[in-house]
Amino acid sequence: MQDYLLRATALNGKVRAFAILTKQLVEELRSRHQTTPTATAALGRTASAAAMMGAMLKGDERLTVQVKGGGPIGQIVVDADARGEVRGYVGNPDVDLPLNAVGKLDVAGAVGTDGFLYVTKDLGLKEPYSGSIPIISGELAEDFTYYFAKSEQTPSAVALGVLVDVDYTVKTAGGFIVQLLPGLTDKEISEIEQQLSQIPPITTLLERGEDLESILKTLLPDVQILERREDVRFQCKCSRDRVERTMISLGRAELESLLEEEGRAELVCHFCNEKYQFTGDDLRELIQQL
Ligand code: ZN
Repeated sequence: MQDYLLRATALNGKVRAFAILTKQLVEELRSRHQTTPTATAALGRTASAAAMMGAMLKGDERLTVQVKGGGPIGQIVVDADARGEVRGYVGNPDVDLPLNAVGKLDVAGAVGTDGFLYVTKDLGLKEPYSGSIPIISGELAEDFTYYFAKSEQTPSAVALGVLVDVDYTVKTAGGFIVQLLPGLTDKEISEIEQQLSQIPPITTLLERGEDLESILKTLLPDVQILERREDVRFQCKCSRDRVERTMISLGRAELESLLEEEGRAELVCHFCNEKYQFTGDDLRELIQQL
């Protein structure tokens, strides 16, 4: 099934919710970065959260999520925007840990709990918005929950999941964010909390074949789907043109020594692993532009 995202509301607008299926997105991240199952899960959970946070933005707004927990995966970086474009990478795609005590991929062990989760939003203002919270769990869903509560003052429930198949490809992936807005009664809040505490893991529901609509219906009374989007996808922003500008910014001396010592150059985009090759002639042409 094609990846998609739902934006929904419930209880007369006092609850807003997002749910997402990210199987294709996470599989593309996995195949581009050749991540181990643990790294796939960590990157995929972060990308699923970032994609939903991107859907909270408008127009040209975009955001970057950075997770630096001090664990062996290094940093996790994901960019997402209001148009559904998502890209990301991890510092160490080869991180491989034994399953944790409950027999699951040890995402917390890979991420670590000695560090911060950072969110930077470019909202078209002079200064970007930035918020950060200490990583409390490393499993990521709890960390995003804490981020929404602390940095955005919005009590939220976040579920994120990636199920990796025996051949290491992505079997299913997705998540939801339920946000409690002002005006809810204590009874309404406790009913939602009750539902949240009973719902099985998101990957269990998706693997069973449940769709996002039915998951949101299980979670929230009188849920109303406001929007269904199928434009959430992997999309990098790099291009030959941008890479050339980066090369030019190195300056004449650096380019001349590259030409002299290597005779060529190769630049790799962190986000998509695309390789950009520069022959000796390409380098000479860049130098002429300086
Ligand atoms: Zn790229």
